Amino acid sequence: MSGNRERTYIMIKPDGVQRGLIGKIIQRFEDRGYKLIALKMQSATTEHLEKHYADLKGKPFFPGLIKYMASGPVVAMVWEGLDAVKTGRVMLGATNPLQSPVGSIRGDFCLAVGRNICHGSDSVDSAEKEIALWFPEGVTQYTSALDTWVFEN
Ligand code: GDP
Ligand code: MG
Repeated sequence: MSGNRERTYIMIKPDGVQRGLIGKIIQRFEDRGYKLIALKMQSATTEHLEKHYADLKGKPFFPGLIKYMASGPVVAMVWEGLDAVKTGRVMLGATNPLQSPVGSIRGDFCLAVGRNICHGSDSVDSAEKEIALWFPEGVTQYTSALDTWVFEN
């Protein structure tokens, strides 16, 4: 089997929620064969968002980013499957939507870097940290009926 079974943290940002893109974004991960193991809608506090984006503290766009992310509810999700972290990022597209290929989520649905509708973990390490931050209650565990049709073993 090539690729590791991984978990990644994917989030639909407030603009994605407001623009009615929740279903479309979830559909892409389902269609690809990823398994949804956690999902909730949450209005995050500034303090929580500052923890999530701690690595970016000090960047000039940081205050605007926190304000944007706190401007409405987000949809927090954990998706599991082969190469979920890297392939999840490919499915989202580049940070700047204008550099995102058509066919990626950002490349199809948005234009501005500060309104790029979705988040995806950038490494297995940060995925585990982000999952722990957003889902301190833990994630679900179940066997998908599609498992043997999506994975070789
Ligand atoms: P990501 O992992 O692709 O989301 O990108 P980063 O972790 O580098 O940045 C986090 C988020 O901050 C991005 O998704 C953007 O919403 C925002 N961001 C990053 N760079 C810029 C920038 O240069 N200007 C503005 N306004 N926002 C930015
Ligand atoms: Mg990032």
